[in-house]
Amino acid sequence: MSKLLILADRIVTGPASHVTGDGAVLLDGEVIAAVGPAASLEPSVDRAVPRLRCPGATVLPGLIDCHVHLAFDAGPDPVRAVAEADPDELAAAMADRARQLVASGVTTVRDLGDRDAMTVALRAAVDSGRTPGPRILAATAPLTSPGGHCGFLGGEVGGDEEIRTRIAENAKAGADLIKVMASGGALTPGGPRMWQSQFTRAQLRLIVEEAAAHGLDVAAHAHGTDAIADCVAAGVRTLEHCSWRTAEGMVYDPEVTRRIVAEDIAVCRCVSGDWRLFLEQLGPERAEAMSVIIRSMREAGVRFIAGTDAGVPGARFGDYVGMLEFFVSLGFSPAEVVDMATTHAAHALRLSDTGVLAPGKRADLLVVAGDPLAGLDALRRVEHVFAAGRRVTG
Ligand SMILES: [Zn+2]
Repeated sequence: MSKLLILADRIVTGPASHVTGDGAVLLDGEVIAAVGPAASLEPSVDRAVPRLRCPGATVLPGLIDCHVHLAFDAGPDPVRAVAEADPDELAAAMADRARQLVASGVTTVRDLGDRDAMTVALRAAVDSGRTPGPRILAATAPLTSPGGHCGFLGGEVGGDEEIRTRIAENAKAGADLIKVMASGGALTPGGPRMWQSQFTRAQLRLIVEEAAAHGLDVAAHAHGTDAIADCVAAGVRTLEHCSWRTAEGMVYDPEVTRRIVAEDIAVCRCVSGDWRLFLEQLGPERAEAMSVIIRSMREAGVRFIAGTDAGVPGARFGDYVGMLEFFVSLGFSPAEVVDMATTHAAHALRLSDTGVLAPGKRADLLVVAGDPLAGLDALRRVEHVFAAGRRVTG
């Protein structure tokens, strides 16, 4: 890959408070070689290097979706779509979803549950350039209790020995992290309720320790208030959903939240682009209670990261911006939301080479028409995407 100089009205180098007006970004193969004001950078770049002029546009770091399921089809019956699918057809569908994601500006995804480590194979295809797609961090089969949430993905564990074995198998299969279903979920027929814990605190500690022994972090699916407290005590890296459910409705715990902040645990409060429908289904009272809790967490200093849960029923691939707009509807500023999608997400995923635009970082970036810091809908007007320097659209 050769060099390319991108010129635009503004460059959000990241975090979102760092903006260079009339800026330029020099790509050199897979990495960013230089970033700065066009007036000083352009004259220093050889005239033979092609220029990509983007008047009226903004360049920003590639977006990160911290919670997807590439193996799920976003249809009404993911169990059938995954568990009974022909492996070749499923692999082709997953590649197609990866293409949709990267075309929408998402240059990194964390896949939090698939079958037979199929995301690991797709990761290799993307890394080699055979398949266009975002960088993939794969959890492979999520640990769950027997008969528990998403057990159909093959990660059921009945006791400590099975926990150790499953983590070792996931690591051997190429997992980048370990996912645990700490509480029940909505997808699984006959499984525990969303507020019910699937593991004890001691088991969650074991999971975190075993994962660490393989050099891996833990992402915990936790809807239940008890499960959230146990996951925080166990030392997980990220909390998925974190919806504070109990048998009696939502019960928020500010003390646990203080620990979430102190321990630098990120919260991926997944919503799909269809969140308006979700709020309608919740009803006005519960929707308001949920909003109040999310705002309280924000005020407490929780580091939110962006995730769509793409693949589960109703959560389409490629509607990342719809998810971000949920947070704007709660009063988050566009800059805060851009940070959730870039710098904060990269920090939580321990990716030090992406999430900002700086010399030596991966050339993960997108060019959008307009200014996303003035209105997030600019992120829907994608002009160009580069993933590790590979041009996706344009
Ligand atoms: Zn999920």
